[in-house]
Amino acid sequence: MRLLILSDLVSRNTRIGKMNNNSRLAGPLWICQLSRKHGVVADTIDYFRSWDRSLLVKTIIKFFQNDTQIYLATSGSVDDSNTIYFKEICNEVRESLPHLKVILGGYRVITGDNDWVDASFIGRCSNLFEGYLAGQDISKYKIADNPATYKNPHNVIMETPVAPVVSGLEFASENEMLTIELGLGCKFNCAFCGFDYRNNKRPILNTIENVVKSCQSAYDMYGITDFYLADDTINEVDDKLELLIEANKKLSFKPNFMAFARLDIIGAKPHQIELLRQSNINTMFFGIESLNPTVTKSIRKGGNPEKNYDTLRLLKQEYPEAFTYGNFISGLSGDSRENIVDSAKRIVDEQLLTSAGINPLRIYSRIDNPDSQSEIDKDPAKYGYEILDGGQFAGQYGYDADHWRNDWCDDAIAAEISSEVDFMFASGLQSVYTAHEFASIKAMLPGHSVQQYNNLLPTANQMQQNLVARYIKEKAINII
Ligand code: SF4
Repeated sequence: MRLLILSDLVSRNTRIGKMNNNSRLAGPLWICQLSRKHGVVADTIDYFRSWDRSLLVKTIIKFFQNDTQIYLATSGSVDDSNTIYFKEICNEVRESLPHLKVILGGYRVITGDNDWVDASFIGRCSNLFEGYLAGQDISKYKIADNPATYKNPHNVIMETPVAPVVSGLEFASENEMLTIELGLGCKFNCAFCGFDYRNNKRPILNTIENVVKSCQSAYDMYGITDFYLADDTINEVDDKLELLIEANKKLSFKPNFMAFARLDIIGAKPHQIELLRQSNINTMFFGIESLNPTVTKSIRKGGNPEKNYDTLRLLKQEYPEAFTYGNFISGLSGDSRENIVDSAKRIVDEQLLTSAGINPLRIYSRIDNPDSQSEIDKDPAKYGYEILDGGQFAGQYGYDADHWRNDWCDDAIAAEISSEVDFMFASGLQSVYTAHEFASIKAMLPGHSVQQYNNLLPTANQMQQNLVARYIKEKAINII
């Protein structure tokens, strides 16, 4: 049996242009690792959108050789932007290999049709995929036919956190990043949040050994030193930080980690600043969302805004070398244009964050997977939102968002405020990048100041293109 997974995060839209992706998706690497345990010959083709099409198809056919059980899969991450091209590739491969089976994974809503997809896996379900490959009966997890679609029960953690160990077949470079997880599950349930495993009272931690193996193998094989921590929140308890500190002690190099952290928890546990430093988490994404007390109460996140300002001051004083990014939401019920602008002004005036950004609230009340819906999506009226007629528009996750209005604005006004305030952040703070973008460009071009990186995007993109070209060449020749 042979399994090949195609993946590609393509690029990010930064404020100053597109940034080419330089990280490998953890999901496909992890699925390969699990599949190999079952005797499957498994591999990935990364950056597949950058391959010359005929070389890609030729390489896929070469990989499958004369095997009779062959599976071509893609990992959709959160959105499905690669699916149309992936379908074209599958159809082309099928002309030579009609017995090919096609699998989609990682999506949040049902995608693809049974005229080209054999099985689809929604959300986190590597356990089900393993069962599928092993020929086990997983029918009780089937949520749809055409194509056969499987999903784990909502909010039940059936998997372990992912920290893939590279195999030597990735042909990666020291300027790329790898994603790992320290734990699964977030004990909070913020009203706007649609992430899996929120409101989970029993988060599962990874082991120190897995984390060390993953990071050390990436370093030994490719010289990789920069990692994204995919955990929804890294600091709701001290355990994850302590785990990472212990793992760091066992590594032969000093890694850099980027993580999502909650500012209000650092405020309640200021000793975490030292834990963050010792963890080598030096790029942080804070979903601050709002600094209006009425709003933070209704969205169940953020606590006391004045305390959050104090925490930002303390963090800046005690961990000045950390890159801190704050994300805000415009349009939340109970807020006002004045408050949003005033909060941004205070942050810029005191330079409380290295960078910040703001997005308008998106409501997804009409999607077919309730697991991906936030409390606001599920019951907009309870939170003060009226869903308007007149169709939907493309939301940030690849499915359609609603038009809405509340006590003081609508989605169009929220978008307008976002543009205005985002410009304040972009022009008034040190960096134009989000935490992900900064971690990415720093891995690509280490050793520059925060401000210098604002001018290095074209150089980083050029380097990424060279790196991907080298990867394609090596992978095409050496595919197993
Ligand atoms: S926004 Fe963050 S802290 Fe809140 S529920 Fe979602 S993952 Fe948890």
